[in-house]
Amino acid sequence: MIQIDNLHKSYAVGQNQLHVLKGINFSVNSGEMVAIMGSSGSGKSTFLNILGMLDEADHGSYILDGTPIKNLNESLAASYRNQFLGFIFQSFNLISYKSALDNVAMPLYYQGMKRQQRTERAMHYLEKVGLANWAEHLPNELSGGQKQRVAIARALASDPKVLLADEPTGALDSTTSYEVMDLIQEINDEGKTILCVTHEMDIAHMCRRIVHLKDGLILKDEKVEQVRAKNALDV
Ligand code: ADP
Ligand code: MG
Repeated sequence: MIQIDNLHKSYAVGQNQLHVLKGINFSVNSGEMVAIMGSSGSGKSTFLNILGMLDEADHGSYILDGTPIKNLNESLAASYRNQFLGFIFQSFNLISYKSALDNVAMPLYYQGMKRQQRTERAMHYLEKVGLANWAEHLPNELSGGQKQRVAIARALASDPKVLLADEPTGALDSTTSYEVMDLIQEINDEGKTILCVTHEMDIAHMCRRIVHLKDGLILKDEKVEQVRAKNALDV
């Protein structure tokens, strides 16, 4: 699904170059659930943003579902992004003046889907995340966990090939974090490929594989026995 070879990324900081990714080699098969771990500033978001076509690498190759991601103009990149990728962020990134339903339906609007179909589709995904009764509520009427569920429904609504989550539980207490991870695990159980950036060990162990980033390189890449969030909630 994802094939990355010798990926490099630097940022210009004043007169200097900050070399953040220094030759990443990485591949992900369809259906995997991978945690990307590392301390703050280790380049996790930079890496995820490149995978998500929100940013471009300086050097190296990236193939997503057989498509080389290189030198795309902005509109082609946007169209691939819509088609291939769903995003979940720490801060939810919901539109504050739109209802839960409209937030979920928004990406479908940009895909040119007709109103009735997008409303039905958005409602289906709100049901899937357990928020059918909250469809007409605004984000500020929802708890943090509910907001993240809306964001997950929004990410799923266009049926992306890969779900990219950047610290999805970073703004949530641990019980709510585990509830959100339980939902993400169920989505992976159904076959969705998921990459999840986190700096929390317990969250990383709820994935099936952990990639450790350090000093711009992958230090360790290990398969792990998945801890089920549901079990963590029971204790
Ligand atoms: P993480 O998500 O692991 O905390 P980031 O990928 O956000 O790390 O950042 C990695 C490093 O790159 C940090 O030192 C950060 O300050 C720097 N950085 C990130 N984005 C930019 C940018 N747009 N311009 C300059 N430096 C940046
Ligand atoms: Mg980050």
